[in-house]
Amino acid sequence: METLDTEVAIIGCGPAGLQAAIHAARKKVGVVVIGHPEKSALVKAKVENYLGIGSADGDDILRVGMEQAVGFGATVLKEDVIKLTKAEGIFIIITDNDREVRAKVLILAPGISRAKLGVKGEKEFLGRGVSYCASCDCNFFRDKRVAVVGDESVAASSALLLREYASKVYWIAKYLKVAKPMLDKVKATDIEVLSPASPAKIEGDEVVTGMELKDGRKIEVAGVFIELGAMGSAELALEIGVLPDPSGTIKVDEECRTEVAGVFACGDVTGKPWQLARAVGQGCIAGTNAARIVRGEED
Ligand SMILES: Cc1cc2nc3c(=O)[nH]c(=O)nc-3n(C[C@H](O)[C@H](O)[C@H](O)COP(=O)(O)OP(=O)(O)OC[C@H]3O[C@@H](n4cnc5c(N)ncnc54)[C@H](O)[C@@H]3O)c2cc1C
Repeated sequence: METLDTEVAIIGCGPAGLQAAIHAARKKVGVVVIGHPEKSALVKAKVENYLGIGSADGDDILRVGMEQAVGFGATVLKEDVIKLTKAEGIFIIITDNDREVRAKVLILAPGISRAKLGVKGEKEFLGRGVSYCASCDCNFFRDKRVAVVGDESVAASSALLLREYASKVYWIAKYLKVAKPMLDKVKATDIEVLSPASPAKIEGDEVVTGMELKDGRKIEVAGVFIELGAMGSAELALEIGVLPDPSGTIKVDEECRTEVAGVFACGDVTGKPWQLARAVGQGCIAGTNAARIVRGEED
């Protein structure tokens, strides 16, 4: 595993993370930004309500923002974070590319997940077998059969985690969009990978009892973990003691500090309005304050 030491690590390569990177890097501290800009909520937006730009495409704003961040000295890793811990005062971030990033200060800017599966049974059985957070709910499925649905690294890492609790784990993916080291880890286990496959409906009575796939196959499961996109903000934050509210929102103060020392959060993950202007404003505050900690300039 490759290790990279930095002073400030930023999880999220959308406008909040990139603005934080620009402000921190201009203060001459080491900055690593982790995330895929093409997964930012902004990527498909046509923006007309942001000061000074008239009308602009979101992907252009992100591309120029990336160039600015890199130009000021930040390193951008187009990878997904699959694990976050803290040991001896250092934040340890593991990515799906089998890389470890070690940082003194952390900024969480992962946006929000708007992704739902949209199948029958998903809403009805939420909290009665359907979950969006494997690390929150894994213990409820001890010795039970579960399915994880999703194409990306979060689905793979959730399947690996659930295997330590459940009696049987299915991983249902339309496409396997996972870095090879991660896929190899799954393939080395008895997790049953059903791909290409997509759920048609989640079935049950009081609680989930099974799932039917679009190709007609049926599997018997008590739990369905919907893990679309990258590892969610709630799961990332929980690992280091930041407790998001039930909607996944991370509470911050006016300095973008979370309740855990050395951890800032900015952008959509901290609440509404989910807008570029707010994300960028908070990114500026979080990046500046993170750099001040590194430089020993705190009040
Ligand atoms: C269709 C659409 C149109 C919009 N139009 C407008 C508009 O006109 N005006 C406006 O002001 N706002 C608009 N918005 C809202 C705006 O896009 C968001 O408010 C803004 O992008 C939030 O920025 P963010 O950095 O907090 O999150 P995002 O932009 O969502 O970025 C999140 C980043 O975190 C990364 N990430 C998440 N999890 C992980 C992980 N586990 N590991 C690594 N990286 C991770 C993602 O890959 C991404 O890079 C629009 C949104 C959408 C969806």
